[in-house]
Amino acid sequence: MATSVSRQVRCYVDGQWVESPSSQGQEVENPATGEVLAEVPFCSREEVDDIVGRAKAAFPKWRRTSPVERIQPLFKLKALMEDRVEDLAKTLTLENGKTFNESMGEMRRTIENLEVASGIPTLMQGSNLEDVSAGIDESAIRQPLGVFACIAPFNFPAMVPWWFAPYAMATGNTYLIKPSEQTPLTQELIFELIHEAGFPPGVINLVHGSKETVDALIEHPDIEGISFVGSTPIAQAIYQKAAVHGKRVQCQGGAKNFLVIMPDADLDFSVDAASSSAFGCAGQRCLAGSATITVGDIHEPFLKGLRETAQAIKVGNGLDEGNTMGPVISKGSKSRVLEYLELGTKEGAEVALDGRQHESADSAGNFVGPSVIENVNPDMSVANEEIFGPVISTLHAETLDEALDIIERNPYGNAASIFTQSGKAAREFKYRVPCGNLGINVGVAAPMAFFPFAGMKDSFFGDLHGQGQDAIRFFTDYKVVIERW
Ligand code: NAD
Repeated sequence: MATSVSRQVRCYVDGQWVESPSSQGQEVENPATGEVLAEVPFCSREEVDDIVGRAKAAFPKWRRTSPVERIQPLFKLKALMEDRVEDLAKTLTLENGKTFNESMGEMRRTIENLEVASGIPTLMQGSNLEDVSAGIDESAIRQPLGVFACIAPFNFPAMVPWWFAPYAMATGNTYLIKPSEQTPLTQELIFELIHEAGFPPGVINLVHGSKETVDALIEHPDIEGISFVGSTPIAQAIYQKAAVHGKRVQCQGGAKNFLVIMPDADLDFSVDAASSSAFGCAGQRCLAGSATITVGDIHEPFLKGLRETAQAIKVGNGLDEGNTMGPVISKGSKSRVLEYLELGTKEGAEVALDGRQHESADSAGNFVGPSVIENVNPDMSVANEEIFGPVISTLHAETLDEALDIIERNPYGNAASIFTQSGKAAREFKYRVPCGNLGINVGVAAPMAFFPFAGMKDSFFGDLHGQGQDAIRFFTDYKVVIERW
């Protein structure tokens, strides 16, 4: 399927680079310019079958490799990623559009997961107790299960698969990564480093595709479990399907994250934090603060500050120094964002800063300027639905209680933040808000790799999350042994 104008993105199978024979696929575009960077194949069921078979064949030996040995290639991969971090970040910006600085930040969070998983000889330990009865000892040991796979979204092309892969491999499983078909190139480059890092063939594999490829993975009898990150409708569908096929499954979905600005908040700090939370990565973050609720009389000064700060954002190609916001991922995404701005007006809100009128909106890239929607009430679509672009909806409440009611009624439960100097308000917020990742005077509550990447309600389907101890539990099962000698 590769054409003369672009090359085909490669798969990595059993320690070898492989060109897919599939006739299905799509173009990978630079969202800042519209340039075609490559073509990504959609691997067929037969290809998936072959890759899973090789990962399964690699499992028995890898499982018997001591944890101390298993983490050595992870250490090497960390060093290789650090050496090549600027190349990785550049590729990430080329295919995703986020600014180079944002890509460098994403690479840091990717590497952090390798560091944490390298502690597996400690993290994977079980427990034991002597004399549970006279002369009888009992212990619980953790064992790997086999082949696992990750299905990833476009918005963090480097990091998301590495919320899972290092823990899966360090605990002794073998692994398949299926990146988003919109952004497969950063993982392809990471796999060049994997090739150098010394993982035995079959332990870690790269496969490309869309719905059919994902279905083949979920339905495959030799896949033990699936980690999915993406939009809520797909997360829910995959959760259900994986359960039907008897798999372990964790599915992280979409989000609508509220930032509560209390009357006693530091005004300048909360304006800056809200602006970078909403417009960082062009709003394409599952942790983006996409709605604010001002409480009491901070409303007017906060909105004035937010409009001014948003207006000062420099929109353009993320590889050009000085630009602080890139494009959205595709023409389809841009249309969705523009439709929401229209819908907001139709529902009675006011687009006070309109990204449709930004000078960048007419260029070849998928640019939309930062947008601030005001006079939003909690029943409007722009208050409840994930827009996933550089748009912030602003709401108002008379009391903290009213603000918390709004958050509780929202179907999503990924993240929320409060800006306040009151410990009492912060405690109430922490106690009541039904979201997995909470910020107190922090605009983007992104858990470090040694904590779970949490999520609730329509933002998460499953029980064990990515990263940290949850990941160890997801990729292992207990055996309890009771011994009498
Ligand atoms: P998406 O749901 O469109 O795609 C995610 C993955 O699912 C891709 O690999 C894609 O190939 C696959 N896929 C798409 N349609 C499918 C189908 N019908 N059946 C099976 N697989 C399918 O998501 P996206 O647009 O790539 O990513 C953005 C979304 O991800 C946003 O909603 C964002 O909030 C969410 N996200 C959530 C988190 C989190 O931690 N909760 C993190 C990052 C992104």
